[in-house]
Amino acid sequence: MKLLLVEDDLRLADALGDALGEAGVLMDHTASGAEADFLVATERYDVVVLDLGLPDGDGTHWLGRWREQGLKLPVLVLTARGRWSDKAAGFSAGADDYLTKPFETGELLFRLRALVRRAHGHAHPVLRVGDLALDTHTGVLTHAGRPVTLTAQELRLLEYLLHAMPRLVSRLELAEHVYARDQEPDSNVIDVQISRLRRKLGASLIETVRGRGYRIVSPDDGMTA
Ligand code: CA
Repeated sequence: MKLLLVEDDLRLADALGDALGEAGVLMDHTASGAEADFLVATERYDVVVLDLGLPDGDGTHWLGRWREQGLKLPVLVLTARGRWSDKAAGFSAGADDYLTKPFETGELLFRLRALVRRAHGHAHPVLRVGDLALDTHTGVLTHAGRPVTLTAQELRLLEYLLHAMPRLVSRLELAEHVYARDQEPDSNVIDVQISRLRRKLGASLIETVRGRGYRIVSPDDGMTA
């Protein structure tokens, strides 16, 4: 999951970066609504966490603008404003979820994962293909019932492909969703990580469509075709 945090409390931003990083979430951070406005238009995030009291305008102003422009990205409002009227203003501006400070990082993470899963059109929190199962809430991956250990980067890659399944995902789309803004991977890096995933999870799981990208192949596909 690649997240944009828009938050001018820098201590909170640092703490969240560490905690969410440990959970495998890739986080970009800005303290400015204007910069967030630029980033959501130029980068590919899976979800945005938006503070309301920003130095350059209220969060609901920026969110309303994004929704008017047709931005579909899920947005969770994270704020100290807990009154009913504040929540109503957040949802009216186009928020998908709302969490009041102080909050538990674990709860934020569960809400973010649910938002991303639903944005991809999945109802069930466990994504399955053949005997592989990824619990998107806990991040636990099992193969034939046994836990599999992946690096954070491998897990992000696999999670994105599983969410997109059975759609074909281009190398560019993968790079935009799975790698940090300042790490521009050349396509070899992605190929190497896909090879590692195949070694750990079976060669037939991920298909390379030459010149176009990758997709997850379900063992059932051949039977129904
Ligand atoms: Ca603030």
